[in-house]
Formats: sequence, C-alpha cells, structure tokens
Amino acid sequence: MIHDLVRYQLDNKSSLKRENVLLVSLGCSWGKCAFCDYQEDKSSSVLACDTVNKKVLEEVKGTSAGVKCLDVTCSASYTELPFTTLCYIRETCKMRGITSVILEGHYIYRESNHFFVDFFGQYGIDVIFRCGVETFDEHIREDVLRKGLPHVTPGDLAKYYSWINLIYGMEGQSMEQLRADIAIGLEHFDRINLSIYTSVAGGPARDEAAIRAFYDSELYRELMENPAVDIFDEWDENNGHNVGHDIKEREKKI
Ligand code: SF4
Repeated sequence: MIHDLVRYQLDNKSSLKRENVLLVSLGCSWGKCAFCDYQEDKSSSVLACDTVNKKVLEEVKGTSAGVKCLDVTCSASYTELPFTTLCYIRETCKMRGITSVILEGHYIYRESNHFFVDFFGQYGIDVIFRCGVETFDEHIREDVLRKGLPHVTPGDLAKYYSWINLIYGMEGQSMEQLRADIAIGLEHFDRINLSIYTSVAGGPARDEAAIRAFYDSELYRELMENPAVDIFDEWDENNGHNVGHDIKEREKKI
C-alpha cells in the first residue's frame, strides 16, 4: 500500500547540501529487518510506483536551489525501483544539473552496483552507494534486528558502499556502543547517516532515556560539528534534523 508520507525535502543543513526524495518501490525482497515498517510503502504495480515517483521527482530543483546532489531512498533497495523510475531519476538529474545521486540498499545487492554506475554514468552522473548497517554490534544487528549481514566486516562493506546508515535509541543499545559504531564508521566510510530510532509495531522498544542522554551528551555536540555525520530524527517535532515528520504516520505508530 502506498502511504501518505513526506516524500521530498531540501536538506540545506548538512555539510553536503542535497535534495532527498522518498520513492515507492516494488517491495523489499529481504523484508526481515525488525525495525522496519517502511517496507509496507510499496506497490506491485509499476504504473502506480512510477506515477507517484514521477510526481515526487518533479519537485527536485537542482542547481536552481544551489544543489547538485540527489539522495534517493525508497521502501526497499535501489534495485527494487522500477526501471522507468530509474529513468525518471536520471532524466531529472540531467534536467536539473545534478551530478551525484545517492542510492541506498541492502548488501545482498552489492554485485549489481556496477550496472547502476554504468546507467547513471552514461549521463555523467556519479553514484554514491549507501548501505543500511545499523550497528557493527553483530549480536544486535543479526539476532535482534535481523539485518542479514552475518559475519560481514566493515572492510567487506566498504568495498561496495562508501556511506552507511546507523541507528541509535533502541533498548539494548548504549552510548559506548554508539561511540564504537561511529568510530568504525568514520574509519571505513566517507559518511554516516545516524538515525534516531522510531519504534515500530512488533519491533524493538525505543529507549527514550537513552535518546535524551544522547541529545544531552558531548558526543551529540561532536557529531553535530562533524561534516561526515548527519543525524536524522523523524520524530523531532521542530524538524531540527531535517527529516520530514508526518504526524499522521507517527500517530499510527504510537
Ligand atoms: S532491507 Fe531495508 S526496506 Fe528491507 S526490511 Fe530491511 S530496512 Fe526494511
């Protein structure tokens, strides 16, 4: 089912100014991550996906807004967007003067990356691949989150992905573990997206105290100053972390 979500946002607070689009996919074929409900925002109809995605991409402004980078996320991996949508993305980049596109997806699709490099490269567009890692704590990542990266090392990931996503704020996570995740992330990758966890039905609980402690910490202030780290908090009512917050969606989750 295609949900009513905030699908376009200009991120002009990050050290890398970019436009973010949240597109509709054909569905996530992994589909097991315990913290994920956005995989429900999908359609098995290519036409339905393309219709919504085209409209979202029409909002992209590119160089007229001083932006040359488009960050594409969807309810699955970049491999699970219809080909027509990929063509729309490429055309949009060309029309709007965008020279880099960020594609996010699961490690299982790593061997297909070169097809995307070629596809966008034909229009002179660079691709940055971002992988959802969530944490380097193997127990939490695999036994709790069911992320599907068993025994995959940071070095393995870095061969295919230059950016990663991390999550913080679930029960069982600690600030020490977050520090370790950030240190590993900065050692192996160009950039980290750190998401503050928003609970989902049947998933791990959100640790409000741990999140408050993080926002009060020196670590938070350090990360806010680090140009290689972006912090996203979907439930930040003031939108200080540049994530579109959809109150209706939040109410549904609570
Ligand atoms: S791979 Fe991504 S979209 Fe699929 S279940 Fe995991 S987090 Fe959700």
